[in-house]
Amino acid sequence: YHAKNMGYTYEYFHTGLLEEKINRLKIEHELINAMDKGELSLLYQPKLNLQTGNIIGLEALLRWNHPEYGAVSPEVFIPIAEEAGLIASIGEWVLYEACRQNAILHSQGLSTIVSVNLSTKQFYQEDLVEVITSALKMNGLDPRFLEIEITESMTVDLSKATAILHKLREMGIQISIDDFGTGFSSLNYIKNFPVNTLKIDQSFIRDLHNNLYDKTIVKTIISMAHHLNLKVVAEGIETEEHLAFLQQNHCDGGQGYFFSKPLPPQEIMQKIEALQQTLGITKSSKEKGM
Ligand code: C2E
Ligand code: MG
Ligand code: MG
Ligand code: MG
Repeated sequence: YHAKNMGYTYEYFHTGLLEEKINRLKIEHELINAMDKGELSLLYQPKLNLQTGNIIGLEALLRWNHPEYGAVSPEVFIPIAEEAGLIASIGEWVLYEACRQNAILHSQGLSTIVSVNLSTKQFYQEDLVEVITSALKMNGLDPRFLEIEITESMTVDLSKATAILHKLREMGIQISIDDFGTGFSSLNYIKNFPVNTLKIDQSFIRDLHNNLYDKTIVKTIISMAHHLNLKVVAEGIETEEHLAFLQQNHCDGGQGYFFSKPLPPQEIMQKIEALQQTLGITKSSKEKGM
């Protein structure tokens, strides 16, 4: 009954919690300096047109290269950054860096779209549209070469987000719904937001070959997207079976380890060239009925 009455006492003496709290504070403190120390970086994962094998975009994925812990996953530090009020400045850095590196790729002859993951918390940032505009302008990147990926979340203020997304769309920026099917308001998002693309969450792709429900869900999302005039991209393509199923069911695009892991920017060009060949092989083996 002691623990019940004094929540904090229970919390402080419950094994692991104190440790977790200290860890969190430590991470939060270090995250504040991570940008200045150059510990943040972006990796890029190609998205391909599943019918032609052409590249349709690159997703920027954030990494924190911590001197002590090594590569810290964004799944760990993004929620901490959100709670600590650091997401605006980290998000700003990501937008600027993604535009900068995409402009470099353009100058090297690879004209493609860069996709940036946006935290729904960033919709509460008053100057978000200005931040995006200046990231594009400062790097001389046309807005049609930027895509924003947003995940479904219960906490987002729909009317605020809708207004911002309409402004971005008017500028020519692409908008895609990430992890589609796993959130709380999937259909509501499509209805309210000016969306271009749905990204089918990788949890539906993983067991595709032995789960009838996943097959049906994936087919249904593809069909719904096309009826709504939206593009559909599958995440987490890891096997040739995944790819074949998605091709047969007319999924427009895809990304996953089968094609490429997220890569540092200097390795992108080479990977894109190698991928053209890989997909050529995949197509011909499919035609042979393999
Ligand atoms: P996401 O946007 O859904 O990104 C897909 C995640 O799946 C990435 O993990 C990617 O590395 C991983 N992935 C790609 N292909 C495969 C595959 O074939 N199999 C498997 N098992 N995984 C695959 P990552 O890079 O750890 O990012 C995790 C999440 O962190 C992202 O999910 C995104 O929600 C968030 N995130 C990443 N970068 C940023 C960022 O700059 N800002 C914000 N706010 N969130 C970010
Ligand atoms: Mg994403
Ligand atoms: Mg996703
Ligand atoms: Mg995700």
